[in-house]
This record gives sequence, structure tokens and C-alpha cells, in this order.
Amino acid sequence: MTRKKLKIYFMSCIFCKIVSGEIPSYKVYEDEYTLAFLDIAPVNYGHTLVIPKKHYENLEIISDKELCRVIMAVKKVGQAIIVGLDVAGYNVTANNNPIAGQIVLHIHFHVIPRKKGDGLHLWPQGKYRDGEAEETAKKIITAKRDSVHGKSKI
Ligand code: AMP
Ligand code: ZN
Repeated sequence: MTRKKLKIYFMSCIFCKIVSGEIPSYKVYEDEYTLAFLDIAPVNYGHTLVIPKKHYENLEIISDKELCRVIMAVKKVGQAIIVGLDVAGYNVTANNNPIAGQIVLHIHFHVIPRKKGDGLHLWPQGKYRDGEAEETAKKIITAKRDSVHGKSKI
């Protein structure tokens, strides 16, 4: 992608627009590298999104350093949610790539406060057939460690 095309691409990103202030948001935390704001369509009261201010599409692209900063912000937001919203816990999720439900292609972590009896259920769980768990684990272990876009190192 040329620099010009790259600029247009970033300019069309909703979350980049929130970072620049072009689109309003309810900010709950901000530092030099990260921003957290309320999700516009909350799964639960206080559902917050934590993002790097710089545009990275997904976990494969973001640098380790930047990711650490985002996760540290997730921790701070989680602590503030527990105290401020009087909840006992929260879910942290990231839909990584469209197949996993990622709609906004600017990496973000969902922090979803949880209350007893809030009606939210975790995903249904399944079972491995004989030998399947071993085979699956082997595939992950033997995967070329720097294979994902040639960048990420496990
Ligand atoms: P995902 O499916 O993981 O990409 O989640 C994207 C999230 O962004 C959804 O939960 C949306 O409700 C949320 N969202 C989209 N636009 C905005 C916005 N302008 N302000 C706050 N949250 C937004
Ligand atoms: Zn962006």
C-alpha cells in the first residue's frame, strides 16, 4: 500500500477517529499510548474498549511493546471497573480477525463487567475425540514459530 492509500485507510478507521477526537466517545482512561472508552452497544453496563492509539489491525501486527502497554491499560481499567461499578469481576476478550467476530479492524480488548445473575453465558464447550487433543497440541507446538505474517515470535 502506498503512503497515501495507507493514510486514507487509517482515516476511515472509526477507532482512529475516536483517538483524534473526530468521533465523540465516553473516555474512561487515557495515557500516551492507549485509550479506553465505553462501547456504544454495551454487552453489560460499563462495557469498555481498550485500544492502542496507533492503528494496528490485530494481534499479529501489533508490536510486543505496544501490546504490553494495552494490556497494562486493560488491567487498570479492570481495577477501576471493579471499584467504580461495584462488580466482582469482568471478562476480557479480543475478537482477533473477522472470522472471530472482529468488526472494527483496529485491535481492541473488550472489558465486560460481570454481576451475579446478569444472564450472560460463556461459550458452549465440547469434547475431543480419541487422539484428537494430542494431534491438535502437536500441530500448535510444531507450527513454524515465526510463521504468522513473518513477524510474530512465540
Ligand atoms: P468487534 O466486533 O470486536 O470488532 O467490536 C467492535 C465494538 O466496537 C462493538 O462492540 C461496537 O459496539 C463498538 N463500537 C463501534 N463503533 C463504536 C463507537 N463509535 N463508539 C464506541 N464503540 C463502538
Ligand atoms: Zn485505527
